Amino acid sequence: MVKGLYVHIPFCSKRCPYCDFYSLVESPVSPEEYVDILLKEADLYRDTPTRLETLYLGGGTPSRLRPEDLSRIVEGLSRVFDLSSVEEVTVECNPEDYGKEEFRKLRDAGFTRVSLGVQSFTEKGLSVLGRTHTPQRAIEAVLSAMSSDLSVNVDLIYGYPGQEPGDLEADLKVIEYLRPDHVSAYLLTPYEGTPLGSKILTGELKAPDEDRIRDLHDLLWRRLKDIGYVRYEISNWAKPGKECKHNFLYWTMEEFVGLGVSAWGFLESVRYGNVRNIKAYVDSVLSGRRPVGVSVKLSEEDKFEEWIMLRLRLRTGIPENLVPDHMREFFEPAEEGLAIKEEFMILANEITADLMVYNSIGRR
Ligand code: SF4
Repeated sequence: MVKGLYVHIPFCSKRCPYCDFYSLVESPVSPEEYVDILLKEADLYRDTPTRLETLYLGGGTPSRLRPEDLSRIVEGLSRVFDLSSVEEVTVECNPEDYGKEEFRKLRDAGFTRVSLGVQSFTEKGLSVLGRTHTPQRAIEAVLSAMSSDLSVNVDLIYGYPGQEPGDLEADLKVIEYLRPDHVSAYLLTPYEGTPLGSKILTGELKAPDEDRIRDLHDLLWRRLKDIGYVRYEISNWAKPGKECKHNFLYWTMEEFVGLGVSAWGFLESVRYGNVRNIKAYVDSVLSGRRPVGVSVKLSEEDKFEEWIMLRLRLRTGIPENLVPDHMREFFEPAEEGLAIKEEFMILANEITADLMVYNSIGRR
């Protein structure tokens, strides 16, 4: 049963140098036309059984659209799907796009949550990450959204070239002052083919070394804990009860429909990805075909591995019998068995890989 809808809005004002999402600065399709096409695509899923709990508009930059267009998406979706049991409607926004008036319009249109792509509250961080807003603008955006009765997530990136603990400290001081409901903090991934990623991978720019990353990670989780946030996933912290319900659907392998160019979905054990080309996307929808570019049916074994991988990201943990004795030092008791200790969450990928090998060997 489908519990979530994800809608991808591909427009951006400029490409950030670290980003590998599908997004368009110039588009042959206007935002208004894109909304029309999206709703036509939604119609292709009309017969899919749903009991929807969450709706998430991500990107790209959804706030490149006017609040009226975002409202039109929600309203159009409500004509295709039953949204009466939806508890959380999130939209990703960039700090430079909206002020109080726009946030109020979003709240009036039924949005409950805004995820702000702040990335850093320091001039240095914003400059390395190629963002166009200022620290002041980011603070204003958080305050405006909060005062509009929206639950606010602040996205941060750490581990960028040149970042010192003092820079992260500065970000966390602002978080302590603003106290948004939710904080996501992602370790910068240097993706091949992105301008910043290529510079790091070729050595032209130096990313923080392992020790520095560990220091930054320690500072991050300890300080957020002191301020009162609960870490519930490797990169996500929330005030109690303010966790993101939509992302939980991904991590617990619930079904969701992905709409929009390059969107991902998960239906009947199939992970599917829409085409990453706006023209191909539009042509497919207009000819009445779901614009799916790739799809993979997960076997029981795939599902088990994915389940372990996702569960290890969460603080709820995995059953004890899946963790061999020689790895127990990395784990601590959790609600559903054992979870990776907070200080070792930075090593989650390595721990997960070892655990997968152990468990696939153990099951042969
Ligand atoms: S990081 Fe966000 S705003 Fe920047 S290019 Fe990627 S999707 Fe667009």
